[in-house]
Amino acid sequence: MARIVMKFGGTSMAGTERIRRVAGIVKRQQEAGHEVAVVVSAMAGETDRLVTFCREANALYDRAEYDVVVAAGEQVTSGLLALHLQALGCKARSWLGWQLPVKTDDAHAAARIEDITSDALLASMAAGEIAVIPGFQGLDPDGRVTTLGRGGSDTSAVAVAAAIQADRCDIYTDVDGVYTTDPRIVAKARKLKYVTYEEMLELASVGSKVLQTRSVSLAMKEGVRVQVLSSFIDESAPPADSIPGTMIVSDEELEGTDMERQLITGIAADKNEAKVTLTRVADRPGAVAAIFGPLAEANINVDMIIQNIAKDKGETDVTFTCPQADLARTQALLEERKDTIGYYRMIADSKVAKVSVVGVGMRSHAGVASTMFKALADRGINIQAISTSEIKVSVLIDADEVELAVRVLHTAYGLDAA
Ligand code: ADP
Ligand code: ASP
Ligand code: MG
Repeated sequence: MARIVMKFGGTSMAGTERIRRVAGIVKRQQEAGHEVAVVVSAMAGETDRLVTFCREANALYDRAEYDVVVAAGEQVTSGLLALHLQALGCKARSWLGWQLPVKTDDAHAAARIEDITSDALLASMAAGEIAVIPGFQGLDPDGRVTTLGRGGSDTSAVAVAAAIQADRCDIYTDVDGVYTTDPRIVAKARKLKYVTYEEMLELASVGSKVLQTRSVSLAMKEGVRVQVLSSFIDESAPPADSIPGTMIVSDEELEGTDMERQLITGIAADKNEAKVTLTRVADRPGAVAAIFGPLAEANINVDMIIQNIAKDKGETDVTFTCPQADLARTQALLEERKDTIGYYRMIADSKVAKVSVVGVGMRSHAGVASTMFKALADRGINIQAISTSEIKVSVLIDADEVELAVRVLHTAYGLDAA
């Protein structure tokens, strides 16, 4: 007998028929002799709908109240799945985030899980009950509801798996594994049998939304075995033990497989970034700190940063990217501090996208970045900003060109399926 956490994303939970199908998959896994906990997302589109209501109420909404609103989507699907499981004759009950509880910090809208109390959960699972847990939800030290950031149900699933020492955490989604790039954009994308934690972490952090970044870092830290696989399988398909999805593995595990290491593992795109430029910032110590300090305090994640040195004039332009969802807040914070920072103009642009190539092979091979720049230049795609890490190169381009860029790069690095 194994203990398994099964997570189902929004598309898998979108409506009665889909939830009934999910209940069937869960039931078969339990019938295979396993203890099962299920983590669910809100129905596809539901979280977006709830976020829009918050924005309509107030562009600079209070994040604690936002959490109250958006956590509701998962409450609905967890109750519904428990009902569907009961209809199939299974014992099942829901455990809301505050009931377990899933303890988090107080960073509303992007809370971090600190601890999950699992005694009651384990007792109920041992008694044959299927535990259904809404993903995304947490409880802060003041007893207020939190949410874990978009895509956070993946992190809930991995955290539950770590808390109950599950043998495996299966992430069921609408594709049958992790591909070399988003298979919805590039038809020639190839499915990967294995991806290392490190590569998946980097792919996720640059926009490959198949797994939330934090879920991968948590799995890596806690040694949780994560598999990505499809919930759109035949009703009579065997349980996941024998379905080949993509396994996320450690470097050492990968060495033990027949997989040949590729130079580039994958390509990801992120259309949710916005670019902000402050012109004529004083070129003096402390100027940049005055810009980014307040953003950090407000939990706004700044990604790419460019500062042009203007030695002669004593002034410089500072450009950076932040999540589009935080743009209004970023603009408000910098506007308030215009005099302290001392800049001339603030220019914001949401029509940008970040495209990144990721691969551990980069460590030992030169020329990865120049291949990227040349392939984009050959198609007339202009690069607005560049950032690199040890195993990644990212460029910022016009949002309209993102799909072309991903296709061109997929071919340039020889990743296209035959
Ligand atoms: P869920 O609702 O199940 O959490 P998501 O929409 O968050 O699903 O993530 C699955 C989606 O991730 C896929 O439909 C696919 O379009 C996208 N995706 C992006 N990059 C990749 C990749 N490299 N491999 C597989 N899917 C990817
Ligand atoms: N429902 C949340 C979202 O759409 C969490 C998730 O699905 O993972 O971001
Ligand atoms: Mg997701």
